[in-house]
Amino acid sequence: MNFTSQLLDWYKNNKRVLPWKERNDPYAIWVSEIILQQTRVQQGAGYYAKFLEKFPTVFHLADAAEEEVLRIWQGLGYYTRARNMHKTAKTIVSHYKGVFPTTIEQLRQLSGIGPYTAAAIGSFAFGLPVVALEGNGYRILARYYAVEEPLESARAKKIFTDLANQQLPKDNSAAFNQALMDFGSLVCTPKPLCHSCPLSEACKAFREDKTDLLPARQIKTPPRNRYFNYLVYTLDNTTFIGQRKKDDIWKGLYEFPLIETAEPVTFQQLCNTEMFKHMLGTGTLSAFPELIPDDTRTMPPHKLSHQTIYAVFYNIRLQNLLPFLQQKYVPVACKDLSQYAISRLTEKYLVFFHNFAGL
Ligand code: SF4
Repeated sequence: MNFTSQLLDWYKNNKRVLPWKERNDPYAIWVSEIILQQTRVQQGAGYYAKFLEKFPTVFHLADAAEEEVLRIWQGLGYYTRARNMHKTAKTIVSHYKGVFPTTIEQLRQLSGIGPYTAAAIGSFAFGLPVVALEGNGYRILARYYAVEEPLESARAKKIFTDLANQQLPKDNSAAFNQALMDFGSLVCTPKPLCHSCPLSEACKAFREDKTDLLPARQIKTPPRNRYFNYLVYTLDNTTFIGQRKKDDIWKGLYEFPLIETAEPVTFQQLCNTEMFKHMLGTGTLSAFPELIPDDTRTMPPHKLSHQTIYAVFYNIRLQNLLPFLQQKYVPVACKDLSQYAISRLTEKYLVFFHNFAGL
């Protein structure tokens, strides 16, 4: 038997039962594929159910406010995905009357739909004869054919796509693509189960004892460190938050007033920053003794894909409203904070905060 028939044979008997496999409409497939881009299957399943319950059709998603979409997405990270989905839902409703386009070229025109997602929708929903390759597929092919090219290179992508295309059964692309994913998740995993693998006889990496070395990877640049100093002002039972607007992480999410510094600083050093002085306006810290924090929380390093956030939250109980808070931030009853879309970091912090604020 060749690669494809062995893979499909294995798939017939071992496929994973996953909620998104029960539907073959492009909307549900698209939602699941975007959620799963950077998310583990177990976590993704919960978000998938929640998302479809809130936005059962592309029309519901297109009609929603962006904040509503971000709130459902909260905790999944990579919020650009949610914003792009919202944008794409609007395009599908306005340009395609709510019906997903059926060609790869049209799908690729939509925000947030790259080659893989377009191929996944095309093959799972419309049976198009295309390969949908993601991490699992690349890993299997890199090992089976002992491809030494680093996975990140454009040349490697081309090699893998050509190899997969040679194996693709044109009348059964959906099963082939699903099989690659499931096989990569259950057998040819990062630590592969070669001794129970039906492909082992022909697998070059296994025969040459290279399974640990493949797929080859480029050396990664270390993540950038960032230092976030959050000022959690409370006045009676109200606190103040602002929306992140810049093209940066967490765009569109809410957070407490933030001063980012180039290195870790003490509260005293923070008070000497231009931003802090700007917050005080013409006043000086000595004129605001109440600004000394009641409580300071240093969070564990918060790791994102290319950066690590070192965050400190300073709780400051105010006696009077500071003018800059009134001008630049939204007052929110502390108990209502959970109604706003916030980052996972702030969400983790709120556990402490609610104790601090006595809520
Ligand atoms: S033999 Fe091992 S490395 Fe090769 S395809 Fe099977 S599980 Fe992957």
